[in-house]
Amino acid sequence: MELWKLGGELVPVYTRTILMSCAFRGPETKPCSMLPRSLGSAARRLAAASTRARASSSTPAARRPCPPSHGDDEAGDDESLPTPHRPGPEERRRGEHRRDFSFVTMASRDHSVLTRQLLEFQHDTVDEVGAEHDTLMDLKARFMDFKQRNYVEKFSNYQNLAEQQTPKFMVVACADSRVCPSSILGFQPGEAFTVRNIANLVPPYEHGGSETSAALEFAVNSLQVENVLVVGHSRCGGIQALMSMKDDSTSGSFIKNWVSIGKSARLSTKAAAGNLSFEMQCTHCEKESINSSLLNLLTYPWIEKRVSEGTLNLHGGYYNFIDCTFEKWTLVYREGLEGGSKYAIKNRSTWS
Ligand SMILES: [Zn+2]
Repeated sequence: MELWKLGGELVPVYTRTILMSCAFRGPETKPCSMLPRSLGSAARRLAAASTRARASSSTPAARRPCPPSHGDDEAGDDESLPTPHRPGPEERRRGEHRRDFSFVTMASRDHSVLTRQLLEFQHDTVDEVGAEHDTLMDLKARFMDFKQRNYVEKFSNYQNLAEQQTPKFMVVACADSRVCPSSILGFQPGEAFTVRNIANLVPPYEHGGSETSAALEFAVNSLQVENVLVVGHSRCGGIQALMSMKDDSTSGSFIKNWVSIGKSARLSTKAAAGNLSFEMQCTHCEKESINSSLLNLLTYPWIEKRVSEGTLNLHGGYYNFIDCTFEKWTLVYREGLEGGSKYAIKNRSTWS
């Protein structure tokens, strides 16, 4: 984590957004009340110094939201945009300034300009701590609780994480809101590199690039994780979509095109459990697709190589949120297994 020296006191870099706002905004800038007391005092001194510096400058450029050194192109963008309205206290109380922000956002397709507007908006939000009530205020309260109970308490740990991450797990989980792997398995920041997609599917190497294959490449080759864990779950809507598909149907639906990756699991489910109810077939396929994904992992040459070398383990997991149980198992991959197969399941157990 970067530290800024201020009056003999080191200020962690997570104050940067506020400090940047202080540097580029008007003299009314205030220190962020979200900061711990010791850090807040440093930020207040910086804000005061920044205010004095701006007060000594009367040039309009000194109050621009971003430094003028960003180039001629951006200067041109400034001219094409409406001048951001700076709300007074009464407008802030009524929340009318938000319409100004929306107007400016919609008026511009330039991301750099949007970023500038966002910095200004963040600053306004900081100024209005305790005065706003919107749908994100609950998230703010949770973030502040995380900051006080976790970040501040484990500050040195987060400083180390700011320098590097060395997770031992790569997790592939479903995007379903009920199955957050960090919540159910207790992964802390830095412990699991995670990608979530519809139905927690791993496409085969031949499928080509996807966000899942990119995440695998980074986790396995760069982070050198020791375990890949594919986590499925009960009542998965993605698996229901897969099991509901007509045979060989083509569709413009992104969902159907994605879940068709699991068609081999669907076929084996139909063969093994086709006589059961649709719900029971889906339950079967939820687990079958995990094994299909584990086998697909081995189609990636750099994963197959590390598994063969014994430096990478492949695990399956199934979270049943109906009865709150978790099954886990490990895929064995080597020549000469029983029955002449190269694949086997070991260490299967259920946590209940
Ligand atoms: Zn799901």
